[in-house]
Amino acid sequence: MCCRRMAGKSFRGFLLVLPVMLSVLSACAPIRGRTEAYSQSFFAMDTYMTFTVYDDNAEEARAALRQAQGELEALEALWSVTEQDSDIYAVNHSGGQTVTVDDQTAGLLSFALQMARKTGGALEPTLYPVLTAWGFTTDENRIPSADELSALLEKTGYDRVVTAGNRVTLPDGMMLDLGAVGKGYAGDLAGQCLKEQGIDSALLDIGGNIQAVGTKPDGSDWKLGLRSPFGEGIFGTLRISDQAVVTSGNYERYFIGEDGVRYGHIVDPETGYPVDNGLTSVTVVADEGKLCDALSTALFVMGPEGAVEYWKTHQEGQPFDMILVTEDREVYVTEQIKDRFNLQKEYRDMPVYPIALSDEQE
Ligand code: ADP
Ligand code: MG
Repeated sequence: MCCRRMAGKSFRGFLLVLPVMLSVLSACAPIRGRTEAYSQSFFAMDTYMTFTVYDDNAEEARAALRQAQGELEALEALWSVTEQDSDIYAVNHSGGQTVTVDDQTAGLLSFALQMARKTGGALEPTLYPVLTAWGFTTDENRIPSADELSALLEKTGYDRVVTAGNRVTLPDGMMLDLGAVGKGYAGDLAGQCLKEQGIDSALLDIGGNIQAVGTKPDGSDWKLGLRSPFGEGIFGTLRISDQAVVTSGNYERYFIGEDGVRYGHIVDPETGYPVDNGLTSVTVVADEGKLCDALSTALFVMGPEGAVEYWKTHQEGQPFDMILVTEDREVYVTEQIKDRFNLQKEYRDMPVYPIALSDEQE
């Protein structure tokens, strides 16, 4: 069994923004005036979070950080699958009865269901029974039999969740788990919370999901390191401002079965088996973290061709960009961000292909 974990808790960061690295990368652009960085790290939603705000008022910065952390913790209390006081726990143990949930839970659930529909069920918010059978929810990994999986798949299906405003009805035996979207959704709310308190430059690292508020204090882009699926460190960098960047991959949370096969934690809702389609990571860049989070998981399920097709056909309304990395070390980057992406020196052997809307441009 192998699963790279920290002290029993998962550190799910696929994207890495080392404070050291940021200061090195920004060394040529000194921070203006007396603006300073204020950071706060904490553990929530089963992952490490670090919020950094840039401000010229220490008290304002610290108060804003406290408020944002409080917001995250309140959302965790609503969305936890295991805490008995949470909204999600109440829905999952309702025995098919209608439950009234908080506005934030209703918002997250309706977004998750909308994304499940849009992605044709690649994002499946009711996959929890299947994930539990693999041990991905408890860390006691095992390989379920094909019969067990097909019986459990009967208990899934986002189209069987009924919502009306804040009222949610889930058939008895089904379970919701909004973990694949919750951190992105929470990041949007935390960013909003900081903005409301006058912060216009901040970087939120939510277990590897990155949420940028504005630009760096000097007005330039943030430079993020993209964690390598092939070893330690980063394989590339990406420049962004006021956007979110979320990665899903199979190289951090997985186990090796007794059959010697590597099983990743993202599961194909059609088959009940961990995804194995040639992709090793999908990074999504968009204005909203919730869209990035939902899509990074769903596009990972769709595979390289499916992800490119989805990107080509979903650029209206909520456009997004993406970076796909395949098991055989190829990188595919959508054309709008290709100039913002750079490979690290030690990964220059990886070919980088643009993904364009029309084939002629490819
Ligand atoms: P992470 O939360 O680990 O950073 P993701 O956002 O990609 O990464 O979410 C993956 C988590 O979502 C898994 O650990 C599992 O709990 C759950 N999950 C796995 N496959 C799916 C799926 N197809 N649809 C929805 N949730 C999934
Ligand atoms: Mg996700």
